[in-house]
Amino acid sequence: MAKFVYDFAEGNKDLKDLLGGKGANLAEMTNLGLPVPAGFTITTEACQRYLAAGTHVDGLDAEIDEHLAALERSMGRRLGDPADPLLVSVRSGAKFSMPGMMETVLNVGLNDESVDGLSRQAGGNDRFAWDSYRRLIQMFGKTVCDVPGSEFEEALHAAKVAKGVKDDVQLDADDLKGLVGAYKKVFAKHTGHDFPQDPRQQLDLAIEAVFRSWNADRAVLYRRQERIPADLGTAVNVVAMVFGNLGPDSGTGVAFTRDPATGESGIYGDYLQNAQGEDVVAGIRNTLPLADLEKIDKKSYDELLAIMATLEGHYHDLCDIEFTIERGKLWMLQTRVGKRTAAAAFTIAAQLVDEGMIDLDEALTRVSGAQLAQLMFPRFDLSGDPTAITRGVGASPGAAYGKVVFSSAEAVAADGPVILVRRETNPDDLPGMIAAQGILTSRGGKTSHAAVVARGMGKTCVCGADEIEVGRDQFTVGGQVVRAGDVISIDGTTGRVYLGEVPVRPSEVVQYFEGDLDPALANEPLVAAVHLLMTHADSRAALKVRTNADTGADAARARRFGAHGIGLCRTEHMFLGDRRELVERLILAPNPAERNDALAALQPLQRADFLDIFREMNGLPVTVRLIDPPLHEFLPSLEELAVQVAVAKARGEENERDERMLSAVRRMHEQNPMLGLRGVRLGLVIPGLFAMQVRAIAEAAVALAAEGGHPKPEIMVPLVGAVQELETVRAEAERIIAEVVGDSGVEVLIGTMIEVPRAALTAGQIAEAAEFFSFGTNDLTQMAWGFSRDDVEGAFFWRYLELGIFGISPFESIDRDGVGRLVRIAAAEGRATRPGLKLGVCGEHGGDPESVHFFHEVGLDYVSCSPFRVPVARLEAGRAAVESTGSDHR
Ligand code: PEP
Ligand code: MG
Repeated sequence: MAKFVYDFAEGNKDLKDLLGGKGANLAEMTNLGLPVPAGFTITTEACQRYLAAGTHVDGLDAEIDEHLAALERSMGRRLGDPADPLLVSVRSGAKFSMPGMMETVLNVGLNDESVDGLSRQAGGNDRFAWDSYRRLIQMFGKTVCDVPGSEFEEALHAAKVAKGVKDDVQLDADDLKGLVGAYKKVFAKHTGHDFPQDPRQQLDLAIEAVFRSWNADRAVLYRRQERIPADLGTAVNVVAMVFGNLGPDSGTGVAFTRDPATGESGIYGDYLQNAQGEDVVAGIRNTLPLADLEKIDKKSYDELLAIMATLEGHYHDLCDIEFTIERGKLWMLQTRVGKRTAAAAFTIAAQLVDEGMIDLDEALTRVSGAQLAQLMFPRFDLSGDPTAITRGVGASPGAAYGKVVFSSAEAVAADGPVILVRRETNPDDLPGMIAAQGILTSRGGKTSHAAVVARGMGKTCVCGADEIEVGRDQFTVGGQVVRAGDVISIDGTTGRVYLGEVPVRPSEVVQYFEGDLDPALANEPLVAAVHLLMTHADSRAALKVRTNADTGADAARARRFGAHGIGLCRTEHMFLGDRRELVERLILAPNPAERNDALAALQPLQRADFLDIFREMNGLPVTVRLIDPPLHEFLPSLEELAVQVAVAKARGEENERDERMLSAVRRMHEQNPMLGLRGVRLGLVIPGLFAMQVRAIAEAAVALAAEGGHPKPEIMVPLVGAVQELETVRAEAERIIAEVVGDSGVEVLIGTMIEVPRAALTAGQIAEAAEFFSFGTNDLTQMAWGFSRDDVEGAFFWRYLELGIFGISPFESIDRDGVGRLVRIAAAEGRATRPGLKLGVCGEHGGDPESVHFFHEVGLDYVSCSPFRVPVARLEAGRAAVESTGSDHR
């Protein structure tokens, strides 16, 4: 039979699944010999069973009896004993921290009799005992029996009015006795029965209420936002009460072993004398800096510092701690590996390496690509200490300021930067979202429409700032009115909103990668930490990181960011601008001779493009993809042209060129262009197009070789679905390459994209004609799911995310089960045909941290991503390698 209850002495920190984070760490501290009040943990499994059955869990009562008896023995007191009561707290604690989302009941065991016993224990302190009792009825009423909290507040307020005082602390023991009477009436009115006097019944009901709080609305919402699985359940910790509110020699506090904001070592935390933990959370009184405890109670302070050192030495990481001092005796109530900012994560990992606490492999597991990406965004310069007017959910990182506008139309019409402020956004707001510098909403979380769309566009967004009231042309927050046209600044990382323009500062991490670090920042611990960890990541990575770039400037930047070559050079961008006319000539050519003229004019331009890129990537591979999009994308829009021609006709102005263009556009119009005449199909249908590009690539390579360079061109054919398509293109390409390259020593590889599901499923055949595969996971996702990649994310993904159909857009992070399976099949079957087959990925997923781990697992040779994502992918490639070899290198 399952064991549902663990004494603190029976657990350890690795049992978080079963005991929750709090229970596992209380057990760990107990076993380290630290002063933890006695207690036990009821497992998450008991919670899961309770929630599934909706009632009582068989066998749980008997186990609680047994552990409660042990707890009573170790404390030398019985639960709720009228003469000398043991009181307990009943606290939630899930595997993942969900701060404030679930319930806690303190002072369980108090009743009309034991309240006197508690007073005696506290040296005749009646006030303390009755205050504890009224707190129990209030918390128990709200949490266990759903009594509206406001009614208790009203009764408390009435007691203060009757006495003519303002603060709770001015109520004496008799007042509190009267208040307990009033609270009991409120309780009975709402529940139909009296406040339970049986301590054991109190305990059982409190435990069940904590179980149920796993499914409270706010907990459900939080889990959805943080992607915490819904079926984990919470553990429940039953802990002997210790009191920080027994006088000036008592108190409560929180501490961090290092600064969670910057990572600096030192003493960080807050202390509140003569108070309980809930007072700190409620912010009733101002806390003191932890360092002041040294003057108040040196013995406890020294002991706390020693414990903090023990915990860091044990967890090898920043710990955060909650403690209470009861009449000069220190008690540890909680510890966990502390949350920290991205900058602190890097700095602390490097410090711990320096201090010999962890090795470099372990350090890599302490940071993430998402954190590095955060450090690469520009940030607000907060040296002027601006005050935030409110705070929402940091939904899409970055720092933006601008004039407030309240509609999409105003955003589009505005001159200069604007912040679009809405209650929530919908697809009609898209033009405004594109035009705005940033988006602020008062409703919705990280998966709301605004958040999903903004992230997709890389636009700063703060969501769910629920303190603001959004009106038609103004919003209010805490009595402050912000009108259309007023300037605000929003921080998409922290969710903070500031009034006025906060200056934006470039990222020193980007400066470091760019090699133009401001010397004043050269010794920043953060920059040194990034350098250390990136160097180690590179040394561990199995995956290489290339970049998607189609200009020399992008190629150069990516190279500075550490790219190992180009994985995708999209040539279509080279057909725009002043070359449009040549492309139109090509498309509209009435005969082969004119088409060849247009191609001949394009060819030297293309050669120059490639030479520029090859030079920047000298010595590194450059994959050039032959033209991919449907050619009508280079022609004017059908609607506009039709109107233009009709208007001209009506005016009697004949324009032969426009009319010819219109008939061509009509001829080439497609219902589903993404599934139409594009990719390899173009090369097979339009004579000379691919040949021109192949010749330009080969000639550029030969030119660089002649300059003494080392070009490594790779020609990639897009949208292949059948080996015969590739064979046809390949035969012509090989002929041209042989002709151009001669004995220059230049080697040109020919390969294909795998972006059509059929290509993945016939990869064994396709590999006969390909020296490399590059997975085009954008199209592969589009075609595997049947999702139009240009439409669906903004249109309805917010609903899919809300329903949990997927946790993240499959265009953002690889869908391992579906699209990922196609990648696995193609990789295995391709390599079975051609063992040395080079494999890479050049869809957006190449720069997504989660997906990089997947590509490492599959055994690809490289990922390719936009220049800005290259450092993120390098870091994740190193982390993936460490993860797969297992890191226990402390
Ligand atoms: C892809 O489909 O993943 C790809 C890289 O090609 P494109 O995005 O240009 O269609
Ligand atoms: Mg594609």
